[in-house]
Amino acid sequence: MTDTPLDFGDPADLDQLRGRFRAWLADHPLPQRQPDEPVPVFLRRWHRLLHSGGWVGLDVPRQYGGQGLTALHQVAISDELGACRAPGIPRIGYLAHALLEFGSEEQRGRLLPRMLAGEDVWCQGFSEPGAGSDLAGMTTFAERHEGHYTVRGQKLWTSYAQYSGLCLLLARTDRSLPPHKSISAFILPLDRPGVTVRPLRAANGDDEFCELFLDDVRIEDAERIGAEGDGWPLAMTTVSYERNALDTGHISTYGLLVERLRRSAHDRRGELPDGLLSEIGRCVVDYEVLVAHARRRTAERRGGQVAGPESSVDKLLMTRTEQRLYETALKVFPEEVFGEGGGLFGDYLYSRAASVYGGTSQIQRNIIAKRILRLPSGG
Ligand SMILES: Cc1cc2nc3c(=O)[nH]c(=O)nc-3n(C[C@H](O)[C@H](O)[C@H](O)COP(=O)(O)OP(=O)(O)OC[C@H]3O[C@@H](n4cnc5c(N)ncnc54)[C@H](O)[C@@H]3O)c2cc1C
Repeated sequence: MTDTPLDFGDPADLDQLRGRFRAWLADHPLPQRQPDEPVPVFLRRWHRLLHSGGWVGLDVPRQYGGQGLTALHQVAISDELGACRAPGIPRIGYLAHALLEFGSEEQRGRLLPRMLAGEDVWCQGFSEPGAGSDLAGMTTFAERHEGHYTVRGQKLWTSYAQYSGLCLLLARTDRSLPPHKSISAFILPLDRPGVTVRPLRAANGDDEFCELFLDDVRIEDAERIGAEGDGWPLAMTTVSYERNALDTGHISTYGLLVERLRRSAHDRRGELPDGLLSEIGRCVVDYEVLVAHARRRTAERRGGQVAGPESSVDKLLMTRTEQRLYETALKVFPEEVFGEGGGLFGDYLYSRAASVYGGTSQIQRNIIAKRILRLPSGG
């Protein structure tokens, strides 16, 4: 957090950028999803179309395939996409930040333009069967040899690994050092001998999650990101960006639903029970708090502040807003429960995962207690 006064204004060119993007969207509507086309394959087509218009990687320097603008410009595009309920830019922003901050010049120059263009699809190999919240407890091990490593272990919950070509992999490289100094990060091509990707079907029918089995997989020294032991700070940078509320476009999507609820509360007064009206009121308050908070975060970014532990506050506010919103919407619009694309029920089910992915709500509270409020650890 900063003591410098924050500038809550938008950069002068932001309105023009939004206008240009709306005009582009009018000429390039969301493509139709083909029957049986897996969602990630469809989203990749959308990603490539957005990239062809110059709308991906706005905040990435030009020499790495971006537009050399600011995070606020990219946030504005995500916001516009959310406001018309179009899928967001695939969540590569936090992986791009990891490469920008920790990658070598060669890795940045080679990998970032392909990542931004959707030519390489990445997944994130952090969690393991025994190491989710306690990421430091990971056991996947990369054994050092002359010029390369051999990696053994298992990853779990790796989203869309079956549709990805590359994995940002964390593995321990030294068993004698404490966990936070002994984890390293690697670029793992998923077609490497020894890699097995096994999709898992979730209760809602999605096959988002995968298990990743690594049996003596060879990874070259040049595929390590940063120095040995840099894996922990890289992971913390990645999740700090992953947890922030700004880049997803979710806030403007929530805004649409909040507006519908607000209108229903007005139009159906006397018909909706008082308890439900209070719930709608709480949704509106949650949303307004989130918007005010996001505004602050935007101003901080504008002032050059990078994402840090305060992203945990964003994640908690986003989770609370999203879960309450869909829970309430199910009650107010029961006729839409099973609509197109899973309807409100599909959105409701996925909202339940918000308190788990990117670190659970309990873990966000631990981070706020320890790293922001500096409270003493119990016992
Ligand atoms: C939709 C989705 C997508 C995901 N995608 C990926 C991905 O692409 N790559 C990846 O690496 N991972 C991914 N994950 C995994 C996610 O990061 C983990 O599920 C999460 O970190 C929790 O770990 P866990 O499931 O092992 O639960 P556990 O760590 O076993 O936690 C179980 C319960 O115990 C609580 N708990 C644990 N420790 C503490 C503590 N110290 N204090 C208080 N409470 C505690 C937790 O809050 C939770 O309620 C994804 C998860 C979801 C839901």
